[in-house]
Amino acid sequence: MTLAASPAQSPGSSPATKPDPAALEDVLSRVQLALDAAFVAIELEGISRSLLREAPGAHVLADLWRHGSRGLKEQVRATADGVVGTNRLRGERGGPVCGKLIAVALRDTGGAMVGILVAARTVEQPKLGSGESQAMIEFAHETARLSASPAPLGLLGWIAFRDLALQHESVAGGLSGCILYGDVDQLHVLNKLAGLAAGDQAIAAVGEALVNHPLPEGSGVCHISGDRFAVYLPKASLSQARRAAERLCQAVSDRCAVITGLRTRLSISFGVASVPPADPELTQALAAAEAACRAAKDRGRSRVEVYQDADLSIIRRNDDVLVAERLREALETQQFAIVAQPLIALSGESSAEYFELLVRLINDTGTFVSPAHFIPAAARYQMLVELDRAMITRVFKRLRSAHKEMPGRTIRFSVNLSGPSISNPDFLEWLSSNIGPSSVPGEWLQFEITETAAVADVSRTRTLIRHLRARGTEFALDDFGTGVSSLSYLRSFDVAMLKLDGSFTRDLLTDPRAESLVRGVAQLGRSMGIQTVAECVETEVVRQRLTELGIDRAQGFLFGMPVPLESILIPDPEPAIMAPQSAASP
Ligand code: C2E
Ligand code: CA
Ligand code: CA
Repeated sequence: MTLAASPAQSPGSSPATKPDPAALEDVLSRVQLALDAAFVAIELEGISRSLLREAPGAHVLADLWRHGSRGLKEQVRATADGVVGTNRLRGERGGPVCGKLIAVALRDTGGAMVGILVAARTVEQPKLGSGESQAMIEFAHETARLSASPAPLGLLGWIAFRDLALQHESVAGGLSGCILYGDVDQLHVLNKLAGLAAGDQAIAAVGEALVNHPLPEGSGVCHISGDRFAVYLPKASLSQARRAAERLCQAVSDRCAVITGLRTRLSISFGVASVPPADPELTQALAAAEAACRAAKDRGRSRVEVYQDADLSIIRRNDDVLVAERLREALETQQFAIVAQPLIALSGESSAEYFELLVRLINDTGTFVSPAHFIPAAARYQMLVELDRAMITRVFKRLRSAHKEMPGRTIRFSVNLSGPSISNPDFLEWLSSNIGPSSVPGEWLQFEITETAAVADVSRTRTLIRHLRARGTEFALDDFGTGVSSLSYLRSFDVAMLKLDGSFTRDLLTDPRAESLVRGVAQLGRSMGIQTVAECVETEVVRQRLTELGIDRAQGFLFGMPVPLESILIPDPEPAIMAPQSAASP
């Protein structure tokens, strides 16, 4: 497959996009750090930012920039290499030396100067040299790319995109459309492994896959900036938009690009939100879709999440700080519930019952809020360990008493563990002290860890598994197939169960590759003595196909929505939560 032209190869193929101010600020703070500069400034495509450090004489540098930036730009423009440097910086009209400065041109892919990057030191600081010039040139190269559009023709800039959406919204007569917010997955890894130019090529290839994918009439695709894209779908319901996003994810992952000699599988995650009435700048829609996209990315690669209005009370204005605060309060006041979902045996071989336990926050109106909406905030505010502990404490407390009432029941409760819990040095000791004869029997427990969390700290994960297996507790690799290196690590971890990510189940009947992966995992599981489970099973045909392919168990709405744990902790388990007849009796 050929690769979309990188921006360097196709100068001027489409207009430059506005750089993201946050990205500019990020560059600035890195320049300031790298050059130990008292003052740094940037101007690109009409956006300017500067940073000033509290230091004697630093404000003089800022004043000079404020009044003399135009002259400085002309000076830079007039040089052949686009670099101006001096260790004898004076004011506009001469006067005493007041600092040191390097200014470099920011150029677009066609070589035209589109901005300037400046770093200055005060009189007291050391001189600037060629090392600093070189660093500035590299920063300038990186920065100029923030406004370059690596995208193929057909991608809209933000203004055109917004206008297109608003034009449809105004004539839609109450039937609003949806926005998809897409963010290329793991671009930083590619940037690190193969360099920034490779990252650009990947963005270009993703953009091309998105614009070339057929979408309903009136739709538009926008390259927001960097690795972020938006798609507008007129008159689309959330579920239609979700399906469109899933197809776009597929279109991107189908595009296996060769980037700087490396065969690279590209992927993107999307958040979906509807466009609310009276949102003239699309800010609410975009913020909601972005929040959903973050939730999608936190759950792995090539994911789609829909922003649910029902959760507005907890995601007030998408503000993570508020969500984290609300979560902390909920954990303290026990305003959370445990729900359970069965993992049904697909063949008659196993009689053991399995349930996955999932956390739910209880919001002000008493409704349940899915963790997909607060786990991203919990992760950002380092609350996952707290969340896991609160959940495990509650689960153990309840199971301890339940075990007394039904000691002979062959049942396993599977609890999700987050990466930070696994890496937490005290976690294993805390957990072990709570499992055992006087507490919950190890045979009643299983922990689910995602591959990404497991590989983040391989030795600690192995220690955790070894210790708990000795007590009869099992481990499952969750979201299997979405991580980076599934098979190589599988041998490192002594797991009893592989939980195939829901995306494979969803694509099973339409994508031959999903089917061959599922078949392969079923065979692998059988040969290694590991149970395989398919998540998100929603239809009878999918259940049948999974059974034919040799998957051991299935979990999903077909068999039962997650229900309060309480309803299954009754001595006679029959009536409360069981699979539909056809599925329950293998
Ligand atoms: P997961 O571990 O992959 O959990 C399965 C998710 O799929 C659950 O979402 C479940 O409600 C949903 N699901 C089940 N069947 C179906 C189906 O047929 N179709 C569809 N579309 N979805 C289905 P939930 O409960 O919102 O959990 C989301 C994620 O949050 C979980 O993904 C897990 O990663 C995390 N999580 C949930 N509870 C906990 C917890 O107690 N601690 C930690 N650390 N993470 C948790
Ligand atoms: Ca899970
Ligand atoms: Ca999962």
